[in-house]
Amino acid sequence: MVQINIQELLQLYDTKKLTIATVCSHSSLQIFHGAKKEGFNTLGIAVGENRKKIYDAFPLAKPDEFLMVENYKDILTHTEELKEKNVIVIPHGSFVEYLGADSFMTLDLPTFGNRKVLSWESDRNMERKWLEGAGLTMPKEIKDPHYIENPVIVKYHGAKGGRGFFIAKSYEEFKRRIDKDKTHTIQEFVMGTRYYLHYFYSPIQKDGYKLDTGTLQLLSMDRRDETTIDEVQRLGSIAELEEVGIHPTFVVTGNIPIVMRESLLPKVFSMGERVVEESLKLFGGIIGSFCLETVVTEQLEFKVFEISARIVAGTNPYISSSPYADFIELGLSTGRRIAQEIKYAATHDFLNKILS
Ligand code: AMP
Repeated sequence: MVQINIQELLQLYDTKKLTIATVCSHSSLQIFHGAKKEGFNTLGIAVGENRKKIYDAFPLAKPDEFLMVENYKDILTHTEELKEKNVIVIPHGSFVEYLGADSFMTLDLPTFGNRKVLSWESDRNMERKWLEGAGLTMPKEIKDPHYIENPVIVKYHGAKGGRGFFIAKSYEEFKRRIDKDKTHTIQEFVMGTRYYLHYFYSPIQKDGYKLDTGTLQLLSMDRRDETTIDEVQRLGSIAELEEVGIHPTFVVTGNIPIVMRESLLPKVFSMGERVVEESLKLFGGIIGSFCLETVVTEQLEFKVFEISARIVAGTNPYISSSPYADFIELGLSTGRRIAQEIKYAATHDFLNKILS
């Protein structure tokens, strides 16, 4: 695999004229809005005029310029012109998905965050090694479906946005519903309430909640709105519906703002801290935004079922700050925080510490 040499790439750059670029989807409105507030030039990468047109409806979040492509993979053929504009790429979930993991890893442009994290978050075994190594509790994994005794959630590998996941309460139910052609994981279905915690780790800042190196912020939290599970009860209980062959699904359609009882915050910070410290040992560190996807049980214990290692769409309700970010700086969104980090790094000659 081609190794990106970030030092070499940055030598070509005028770091006083950086352009913040991302793919026009996911959290791009927030990323452009935040970057513009911090004084950056912005560039949106879009497929199709329809995608581009929606930015006319949101002038404060409209990028200064667009790169129109036929297919997102074509970004790879435009890297030279993007370098001339001193482009820094902000990857979000859809960016990585549309470009493909391999192309993302070899994309010859400075990218916010540490790209090495991708192999750790996208392989469920490596993810478990990382999170459990950090002392977090994950839902139990059931290796053999014959041993399903309590409700489980069955997850297909590579399924995006919870598509195709299902709940099974017995081996018979699992056998009836499993698609044998797809690889899957069987996890204990954790009973409790879901919180998706949005952190920001800076290896270069010194003020705030300190880690061995750098600082950790909690910028916001959300709960995902998932169809049909979150509203299926309008029609009847899940058990009743399953009897007539209607099964709930877990497809994300949006995000709902939420806050947590304050007494849980020490645990939230401790989890974030340990995840960062472990990542520093394993692969040089998770940098910038990340999200722990958790369920809080009635014993007030956190079970973490997934980590997302970049800006998540759950930060979108917080364009003008959140009940947590307000205590850091009024008007601070995650998109703006990313822009601030790049600005600070550019002026203190630290860009190579936050880009890869
Ligand atoms: P994921 O793709 O792993 O983020 O899972 C999609 C959705 O399934 C989550 O947003 C949760 O609503 C639900 N979910 C995932 N894992 C679990 C679990 N172990 N227990 C309960 N619900 C879960």
